[in-house]
Amino acid sequence: MRESPDWVRISYASALALRFKSGQFVRDFEFGGINLLLSYVEGCQSDCGYCGLARSRVGAYEDKSFIRVDWPLVETDDLVDRLERFEDRLTRLCISMVTHGYAYRDTLDITERIRRRVQTPLSLLVAPPSLNEERLRTLHQAGAEMIGIGLDATTEELFRSTRTDVPRGALQWDQYWEIVSLAREIYGPWKVNCHTLVGLGETDRDLMELFDDLLNRQIFSYLFCFNPEPDSRLADHPKTPVRRWRRIQMAKFLLEERGLDPAAFSYDSQGRLNRIEAPEDLVHRVIREGYAFMTNGCPSAAGEPGCTRPMGSWRPADEPRDYPWVPSAADRRAIYSQLDLEEVLHPGPEPARPLDQCAPPVAGRHRKTSAPCSGVLDIPTGV
Ligand code: SF4
Repeated sequence: MRESPDWVRISYASALALRFKSGQFVRDFEFGGINLLLSYVEGCQSDCGYCGLARSRVGAYEDKSFIRVDWPLVETDDLVDRLERFEDRLTRLCISMVTHGYAYRDTLDITERIRRRVQTPLSLLVAPPSLNEERLRTLHQAGAEMIGIGLDATTEELFRSTRTDVPRGALQWDQYWEIVSLAREIYGPWKVNCHTLVGLGETDRDLMELFDDLLNRQIFSYLFCFNPEPDSRLADHPKTPVRRWRRIQMAKFLLEERGLDPAAFSYDSQGRLNRIEAPEDLVHRVIREGYAFMTNGCPSAAGEPGCTRPMGSWRPADEPRDYPWVPSAADRRAIYSQLDLEEVLHPGPEPARPLDQCAPPVAGRHRKTSAPCSGVLDIPTGV
């Protein structure tokens, strides 16, 4: 049976980078973030309304797409051979658990197989129902360096409606947060992150309050843009409007990495961000630099962008929602017009938050990454 731990699925971009697949690229940028996903014949036992792997979504698990692209199945030992062969290009590895009775056992097994031969920093995107304090400690000792928690729904009510009160769902909001707290305690500051999905029905205020809370706990929040998965229960839910998405990206960056006070952001009665009070030159500099609009992800060992997930939030044929490269001049022009800044930006005071209380900047954001990297991939076309 082709199941974990001897088999795993890998993202299409990872399959291209490790030469499991061949593909064409439309833009050159450095890519070294390899994403693995546990695989079982029975599939994931959760049934989240927006997910391509949900139990009630039609089709065999092996054929299901995840974030709208295929994840080829490969033999774990073959994968580890290739990780070792391409190690000098790799920036971050990540094993994504699914909800399954063997998920912990197999994540530990694969972590150990990787760690015996490859030193690239390893994250685990965990399934909280499989975990407890002892298991988090064991995974840490086995070499996992960071923990990601796929919170996705950013309010308790949304979590319940998309992940708990669903045909075969039993995920619990409180248990997710218990794992966040335990992971923060065991793995340390800036070694834990929560994935947050923009567009499930939360307000801008909900998001910004969560980002501020996690920032104060030295936990990263990583943004994902809701983009409906065909045949999932939320297949007809609207895609997040690009203007809202860009404003959230910018506001989050100003809060987390430029020290803007939460009071600088105002909301209307529906919780929509309608005013940002900040020095105008600061905001224009942030847009010109472009880092605010890059993919949020676990860093490389050198603190540069590590997990850049091309197509994590958009389809290959779409305009990028988050950029796995530093946005080009043309990208920045598009960002400017999408933001429609005049509507929300008002002059305000300099940021007050001391830099040591901000999220650590990603080192790669201060160097040019637009130069082609020999043989390493960009966005594949026709996936
Ligand atoms: S950001 Fe990437 S590497 Fe980090 S936990 Fe999420 S998927 Fe894994």
